[in-house]
Amino acid sequence: MIPIRPLLAALMTLTAAAPLGASEKTFARRGYYITFMRMPTYDLKDWRRIVDAVRDDGGDTLLLWVAGGFRSKKYPITWAYNQEHENVRADFVRELIGHAHVRGVKVLLGFTPFGYDGVNRYALEHPELKAVGPDGGPTAPFGIGCWGWNLCPSKAESQRFMLDYAREMIFDFYPDADGLLIESSDYAACRCRDCGSRYFEREFAFVKAISDELWARKPGAEIVVYPHYFSGAEAPGLGVRGATLPFDPRWSLMFTPHSAHPEPALIAKARASLWSDDSPSRRGPREIQANARRARREGMNGYVPSLEAFTFVADAAEEAQEWLKGERQVPLGFGWLAPGDPPYDEILQRVNRIAYREFARDPDMDFAAFEQIVGRELLGSTKPADVADLLTLQALFNADRTWCQPAPITCPDRVRAMAARDELTAARRAELRAGLDRLRALETRHREPKSGGERELLRIARWVLDRWDGPEGKLLHDGG
Ligand SMILES: [Zn+2]
Repeated sequence: MIPIRPLLAALMTLTAAAPLGASEKTFARRGYYITFMRMPTYDLKDWRRIVDAVRDDGGDTLLLWVAGGFRSKKYPITWAYNQEHENVRADFVRELIGHAHVRGVKVLLGFTPFGYDGVNRYALEHPELKAVGPDGGPTAPFGIGCWGWNLCPSKAESQRFMLDYAREMIFDFYPDADGLLIESSDYAACRCRDCGSRYFEREFAFVKAISDELWARKPGAEIVVYPHYFSGAEAPGLGVRGATLPFDPRWSLMFTPHSAHPEPALIAKARASLWSDDSPSRRGPREIQANARRARREGMNGYVPSLEAFTFVADAAEEAQEWLKGERQVPLGFGWLAPGDPPYDEILQRVNRIAYREFARDPDMDFAAFEQIVGRELLGSTKPADVADLLTLQALFNADRTWCQPAPITCPDRVRAMAARDELTAARRAELRAGLDRLRALETRHREPKSGGERELLRIARWVLDRWDGPEGKLLHDGG
């Protein structure tokens, strides 16, 4: 006898994921961008669930940022900061890629040339390779989780290291991966005399070399790069213009609202054009819909936004916040989770995952239709008041949340730090009190929950209210 429930669940998964490319409205490429290296606490079992989530949400692609998160034999300095990472302790990404392939998900390995996690630690052993900052002196340390120095790509040793490290990742460690995501830095370019206005030409030397090597071995490999080597446009935030080198249509391109603006001429030529933004990880369903619409309007055939959630212990004052030092990051602001519990199946993140699944399939879907779907799936209720409560709670968790700091209303430590810096104005306090009033009303309305989802709403509302149920509550009162 075939058990009905698992069969139904399997069928539902199939119907959710099946129509890839089936309609014009649908993005041919879907999935998520996840900074694997900044999530040290999850093991293979957790990551298999995350891959399943990509598929369940209609995705076929996982951009898995692995630099700094694997145990390089040639360059132990790249992971020495990350020894608690489950994949550094016992390598499992090869197995994870196997699982992804069974589920129909392509895995592209992510890293930044000459900067960010793993790579920026090489400057500890080779300080002579540090990039030059805008003031002409050595660049200042920077990072998210992994702090270090970006490297000057005009130095031969930087090029040699970068190529050697990327080769080790894709050829020695994870040869079954489907390709690479080569993510240009969004925070700094080297300003030395050799780089100067030719920074992106220097970066491209590496990008071209590793692309040629990978395509020689695996002609079908997908390599996603940034448009800065080809467009000649100013790289947002870096103060450097892009290069105007010839574009090989075997490359796919990545565009983002903050670091790589759409380039129609390149989009027309590329193997794929992927739009990526932070809405599923930091914002809400309306932003996800707006971004899906923008991606389609710009002619992208893929929407692969961020689903990042950090769980590292901060060594540095992330975002210049001293109070975060020594603290473990709270994934998506869900402070009730144990360090090893991924946040993606929590009801508030399910809201964004369903929004992604639906709006990536049809960016023009009526928002009211989305509300019906999310209510039915998560609460077993499509009553507008119930759905509104769910969306209100979801929005409160993302109000003023940053990459590294939970929303103030969920985090008295953050509010205390704001008070210490005289940033907790009367208006801010009133806003937070109003948010708590809404939560109290919500808690009252759902005191007799009729579904598992409603029970979750109640539990989470109470969890937030409990944060303020002591001396912390005084912070929110004027003169407190
Ligand atoms: Zn330089």
